[in-house]
This record gives sequence, C-alpha cells and structure tokens, in this order.
Amino acid sequence: MIECSLCSGVAWRVAQGLYWSTVLNRDQRLLGKSMLVLNRHSEDVTGLTDDEWLSLRRDLAATKRALDELLQPDHYNLLFLMNVDRHVHLHIWPRYRSRRTWQGMDYEDPDFGSQCNASPRTMKDEDLEQLRTALHERLR
Ligand SMILES: [Zn+2]
Repeated sequence: MIECSLCSGVAWRVAQGLYWSTVLNRDQRLLGKSMLVLNRHSEDVTGLTDDEWLSLRRDLAATKRALDELLQPDHYNLLFLMNVDRHVHLHIWPRYRSRRTWQGMDYEDPDFGSQCNASPRTMKDEDLEQLRTALHERLR
C-alpha cells in the first residue's frame, strides 16, 4: 500500500469514535475547519459499510452541534474532496456571514454564499489547542 498520511497518524484529533475520528485542520482559513476521518484505510466512499454510514451521520451531527455551540456558524459546506489524501474523509467547513474572534484573532469569510477562495491560514498551536479542548468538551 502507498504511504497514507491519514493512516500514519493525524494531528489535532478532537475525538475518536468506533469508525470515525473528529480532527481539526491546522489550516483554519474558516474558523472551526475540521474533518471526519475514517478509522480504516479506504479510498472509496461508496465502499463504506452501513454501520460506517450510520456512524458518520451521528458523528457529523455531534460535530455540528459542538461547532454550533462554540462558534455559531451560519452555514456548513460538507465535502469529500480526497484530492491529496485519498483516504476517505469528510471536510466540515463552517461558513460565516460575519466576523468571529478566537483567542483575540479575527476570522472573516468574505466569500460567504459561494465557494471559499481564502488562502490557507495556519492557526498558532496554542490557539488550536484551545479550540480542540473547547470542541472536545462539547462533543457528546
Ligand atoms: Zn489511509
């Protein structure tokens, strides 16, 4: 098997369920940008088992609930892109009508209502750790 970055260990894991892990992206161009990563290696979304789909729905709902509580996004983009990492993962991109502030830093979403064209924005480790903790506490 080809070396897979999502199999060789993800950073910034918020929670690990039976089938999926909730992971924060280091790139926080959209505040709260995260993903659900399948715990086994598969490159075909249509090859998910019924249990994995059911679990994805539940884990997605829980992640959305936690993000809603913490950051009140106005909308979500959900994407299976898998351009770089072929391992099945669902991107969760919170979208915002107006500015949000996290740890004293402002986050804008000027493309709200259309495709996000913002450049990658790496969040400082300590701010990302705060975000991870805050989301972890709200996942249930
Ligand atoms: Zn993999």
